[in-house]
Amino acid sequence: MGKRVVIALGGNAILRPNQEATYENQLKNVQISSDLIANVKKAGHKVIVTHGNGPQVGNILRQNEEAKAVVPALPIDVCSAESQGFIGYMMEQTLKNALQLSGETAGVVTLVTETEVDPADSAFQNPTKPIGVFFTEEESKQLVAEKNWTMGEDAGRGYRRLVPSPKPIKIHGVEAIKTLIEQNQIVICAGGGGIPVIRNQQNLLEGVEAVIDKDRSALTLSEQTDADVFMILTDVPNVYLNYGKPDQLKLEEVALADAERYMSEGHFADGSMGPKMEAAIAFAAGGKEAIICSLDEAVAALAGHAGTRIVPNK
Ligand code: ADP
Ligand code: MG
Repeated sequence: MGKRVVIALGGNAILRPNQEATYENQLKNVQISSDLIANVKKAGHKVIVTHGNGPQVGNILRQNEEAKAVVPALPIDVCSAESQGFIGYMMEQTLKNALQLSGETAGVVTLVTETEVDPADSAFQNPTKPIGVFFTEEESKQLVAEKNWTMGEDAGRGYRRLVPSPKPIKIHGVEAIKTLIEQNQIVICAGGGGIPVIRNQQNLLEGVEAVIDKDRSALTLSEQTDADVFMILTDVPNVYLNYGKPDQLKLEEVALADAERYMSEGHFADGSMGPKMEAAIAFAAGGKEAIICSLDEAVAALAGHAGTRIVPNK
């Protein structure tokens, strides 16, 4: 029996570090990911795909900043929606082609997805996520005064806008997603964490200038779609203890309690493996399996033959 699988793709699946962000480069990378995701579908599973958007939304914000004298700059939530459309289009087309070439009848749909956050989330009082272009100290002061932006120095490279990274509480369109996967469709959704929205004082939806962590939103998506398996595909084949040290140790099947202990021992770096393990642990705590593996080992990992699998306690 096929499983209901949520696949979360890392940034590398779209653009590798040091690669120029041309359409051709991104399409080529996405094609490779799509061929591998098509294999998961061919193995008989129901597939929901979500993805990061860091470099892409960064570039859209830059285009807005550079061209603002000619065309008004758009808010971050709108740029996030643009990036979902752009990346979703590339994924949908390459996935359809991959399925067609292997004689599969499954379809593919992309949903521009809103992710609801709590307006009272403490992240709004403490913006931490650097985004978009770099400014000089002078420009940065001006932006604080003019636009009330929060600015911060980013690793000696200049000043950047800092935005809140609130927790996702609800992925919109979950019922539609569940219906579509039962209709033999691969669904691409909640890209870049989803477009951050809140409910305002009238209880109506409204976009907010924030960024939602992709690993966290992928967890929420997995929980709210009742996924059997939550897979995080990244650029390493496994999670390791003592990562990068001579005594590094590959993790294969890990019981939830052990994963929690390794987490508290500090084996997983903040901002990279940390949020992935946190999400995987939370999913496994719900009684189902979470997998962290490389893109090309997705099918083998689902069969229990590759990757790091966090499983509920026996
Ligand atoms: P993505 O774009 O897929 O979100 P990240 O760069 O955020 O990728 O996270 C993956 C990276 O996490 C790996 O390339 C690796 O360098 C790093 N990493 C940190 N700690 C670990 C660990 N304990 N085991 C494996 N990888 C780790
Ligand atoms: Mg990451």
